[in-house]
This record gives sequence, C-alpha cells and structure tokens, in this order.
Amino acid sequence: MPRSLPACRVWRPSSAGPVIEPLRIDLDAQGRVGGLARGDTNDVLPWAVPGVANLHSHAFQRAMAGLAERRMNPQDSFWTWRETMYQLAARFDPELLRDVAAQLYAEMLEAGYTRVCEFHYLHHAPDGRPYADPAAMSRALIEAAREAGIGLTLLPVLYMSGGFDGRALGDRQRRFGHSIDAYLRLLETLRAEQGERLRVGCALHSLRAVPPDAMREVLAALPADSRIHIHIAEQTGEVEECVARRGARPVDWLYANAEVDARWTLVHATHLSPEETTRIAASGATVAICTTTEANLGDGFFPLLDYMAQGGRFGVGSDSHATVSLVDELRWLEYGQRLLHRHRTLAVDDSTRSVGETLLAAVIRAGADAAGQGSAVAAGVLQPGADADLVTLQAEHPALYAASDADVVDRWLFGSNRPAIDGVWVGGLQRVSDGRHLQRDALEARFAAGMKRLLAD
Ligand SMILES: [Zn+2]
Repeated sequence: MPRSLPACRVWRPSSAGPVIEPLRIDLDAQGRVGGLARGDTNDVLPWAVPGVANLHSHAFQRAMAGLAERRMNPQDSFWTWRETMYQLAARFDPELLRDVAAQLYAEMLEAGYTRVCEFHYLHHAPDGRPYADPAAMSRALIEAAREAGIGLTLLPVLYMSGGFDGRALGDRQRRFGHSIDAYLRLLETLRAEQGERLRVGCALHSLRAVPPDAMREVLAALPADSRIHIHIAEQTGEVEECVARRGARPVDWLYANAEVDARWTLVHATHLSPEETTRIAASGATVAICTTTEANLGDGFFPLLDYMAQGGRFGVGSDSHATVSLVDELRWLEYGQRLLHRHRTLAVDDSTRSVGETLLAAVIRAGADAAGQGSAVAAGVLQPGADADLVTLQAEHPALYAASDADVVDRWLFGSNRPAIDGVWVGGLQRVSDGRHLQRDALEARFAAGMKRLLAD
C-alpha cells in the first residue's frame, strides 16, 4: 500500500465554504487519511476533489439501460417501465448479478463515485425460494464491489407486500420478499462481514411494500447508528394511495410513525407538500435525488430550492443507471430548476456563489453521512481518520485550461461532456488511471458475455 497519495491542489467543502489548497494526503495502515501535509500555494499540481457517495443504486438495472425507450403504450409511465424491469430481473442469478454489478461499479469509479449505496431487493431464486445460501445475491454484490474496488454500503431491502392494501407479492415480486425473521437474519449475517470497504445498513422498499407493524419491528431491531433508506414519494399514484389507505401523505405518515433523523435517507422525495419539505429539512434526514432516473421515468421535480433555503441535506444517486455520470446528476439538478423557473444560477448557498461548488459540497457531505462513512465532517472532507477517497482531474483538459481556484469546479461540472477525471483512489488504493478503470477490459468482457446470456431468447 502506498504511504501517501500524489500531491494535489485539493478542493474541499468546509462549514465556512469551500477551501482549496495544495495537499499531500498521508495514509494510515487501513488506507484512511493519516495526516495532511500542506505544500506551497504556488505549486503547480493537478486539481482533486473528495470522492462522492452514490446514494441510490439497483445494480441489475444497469443491464436495461436504453432498453425501455421504445413506446409500447400511449400511457407509458413508471408503472409500464416497471413491467419491463421485472421481466429482466427474473433472469438474474448470482453470477450474472456479480458481472453486471462489477461493470457498473467500475463505471461509477470512472465517474468519480467512490462508494455506492446498493438498495438490494433481488434476494431469492426466480421462483421466490431462497438460494442454498440465503445471502448469495448479497454476496454477489459484495464480490463485485471488491473486484471493482468501490466502497459498498449494502442496504438489503425489506419488501413484503404488493401494495398499500397489504396484498401478497405478485409472481414476479416473489424473489424480493422476506419474513421479518428471515430479513433480520440476513442483516445479521451480512453485518458480521463488515470491514473498511463494506458497511451494511437497512432499506425499507417503500411504505406500500412494508406494512406498518413490520416497519416498527424491524426499526426496533436495528443497531442504534444503522443507516435507513426508503423510497418515499416517487409517484403521485402512491401518494394518493397512501392518503386513501393511511390517511396521510407518505412523508407525513412516516414522520408520525417513526423517529426520522440524520440516520435516514429518503429516496425520490419527489412529490412533497410544503409542510413535508420543511419536516425533512428540519429532521436532518438526507434526500437522495436521482436526477437522470427521475427524468428518464418521468417522475417529476424535487422542490430543491425550497428545500435548500431551509438547510435541507441531499445527495445524488444514479438509481436505474440509465446513465452513470456524477456530472450529469449535478448539472441536471441545476438545469431542471432553470427550466422550471426560467432563471439561472439557482442552486447556490451563502458560502459560495458557485452553483457547482454548492452542489458538490452538499453531495459530498450528506453523501458520506448517508452512506454510513462516519460524520460528514470526518468522512467527507478528507480529515485524518476519514476514508482516503480522492478523485483527480486531468492536468490537460480543454474544460480546465487556465482554470483558477474559483472556477475549477464549475468548469469541470458545466464546461464539457468530455470526461475530465484522471485518477480515482478508494481507501488509499488507486482504481482509475488516465480515466480508465484498471480492470476495465476484464470486467467489460464478463459484462459483454453476461449481456449476451441475458438477452438471448
Ligand atoms: Zn430505487
């Protein structure tokens, strides 16, 4: 293991606003930041930023990117997309899941994500029966993350019913389901394997898939600091059904029935009342915004500006992996607001007037916390004890020619479609060089074979 990362001009968020300084990051024996050596501010060094956690992923869906863009029905929506997704999901086994996930995780690293929160519900064999090892599919994801070298926050999903009325899972949902006991056993098995790169949290699929009593029982059984993720309000249909069945909108219902705080991540908090927006911001929970997937599925807009004005925390996720691009997630988060409000430079906070810096700082800090990497300050900004997850930008890149400390992040995020990432380190180990994952060829060959198998008739 190298004892230090290459010296860089490192941009980092801080509570007083972004700072940028020449740094050499020294490593401890676990690949964490051991110490920081400051260089001369006049040194000419490549730019670098801390790694970002991808807060929401369903790895198997990487295999259907681009396969649901043909109109099958004038009413095509999230719900018809889900049928296509279920057909594909039915064909996965542990080996295929590992190969698709390893490709995806290598692509994430090349995009600047150094950790992924895997919202994992493809648990059992297609007929719904557990594999001989009930954790076989989880282990396939762990193996994929280890091969690609990305940090993994595995979030096994509790998925119990097919709707708010408590109906049983449909045929194609059966492989997602668990009893509460079996689910808690799975969590316990996986938690025993946690280490520097693997953390295990809990995911509740959604309010429609988890009955209230089951939610309470599982929450009560979790370790006190467990991270908890949930799909909360992606579709107006589920908001209406929640109101009809439980007498409240999803966020209102959740806050009335669980102690929602900084341990929680609400995924797709798309359809909120103003009161719900305020509740989430005040609770310290993180919202996982999946801009490109929400656009691809026609979900709607998260009320970003109201939420930011109230100090709400948020990260980003590539979710269905229609594309895997940190640049796209952040750029379109701002562009969506511009198109809605017909103004420019909207997502900014008081610490910087830069849109890129505001968004990047937000997703680094909230992301590290939501992924269970420790407190945002320690983990997100490369302080001693934090994961040594670093992303360097190319020294020679058209978007960055003659860049300055003040404009480098905006130029990277808004100035080009040509990837500008050079090297990526996770836990002090280099995984990407010259913009290419070091095992790209081998992982891609397995992915290609897997896709042929998946799409063969
Ligand atoms: Zn999701």
